[in-house]
Amino acid sequence: MSRTQEIVMTERRRLLRAALGGSALAALAGMMGVRRLFAGERGPATARTADGPIEVHLQCFADDGRPLGPCTVRRLELSDTEWRRRLSPMAYYVLRQDGTERAFSGDHEKPDRPGLFRCVGCATALFDAATEFDSGTGWPSFWQPIAASNVIEKRDASFGMIRTEVRCAGCDGHLGHVFDDGPRPTGLRYCMNSVALRFVPRTA
Ligand SMILES: [Zn+2]
Repeated sequence: MSRTQEIVMTERRRLLRAALGGSALAALAGMMGVRRLFAGERGPATARTADGPIEVHLQCFADDGRPLGPCTVRRLELSDTEWRRRLSPMAYYVLRQDGTERAFSGDHEKPDRPGLFRCVGCATALFDAATEFDSGTGWPSFWQPIAASNVIEKRDASFGMIRTEVRCAGCDGHLGHVFDDGPRPTGLRYCMNSVALRFVPRTA
């Protein structure tokens, strides 16, 4: 290889590296009008312990609905076989395969009693029934989670759309998506799959 060829190759590599770099990608995304919802994943503080499980810092609630304050739990990690055994086929499809139930196929009506919605996979408290509203979409809809730490919000670019996915912080199961066309006071619409939630009436 001649000296000139070497210089050309080095320059090509430099340009390639620059093109693949974050700033170039951000500029490209800006030109293409891609909406950036937030920088990364939003969720509770987590740490993997020495022997494996991930510890998650959540807000816990008693069975009767009373808030118990901050708590640290181990993220529920099961094998595929164990998840299939624990969940109904539809809940498995939603929580473990990021599926979506058909609109109006599940229980999407606001309950007539106060209570909490918990994850069917791991029982983490996710939504207070007081924040549920009729969105007309056929999916249970809420204007805020029971605690920001109990859900993980993640950028989702599947199906050619930029959306924000919502997952359960206690088991990393897929719950649904959040959109910014909800009612006051937050203006958010947490659009959930009913099979991922279990309603527990408040008794306290
Ligand atoms: Zn869960």
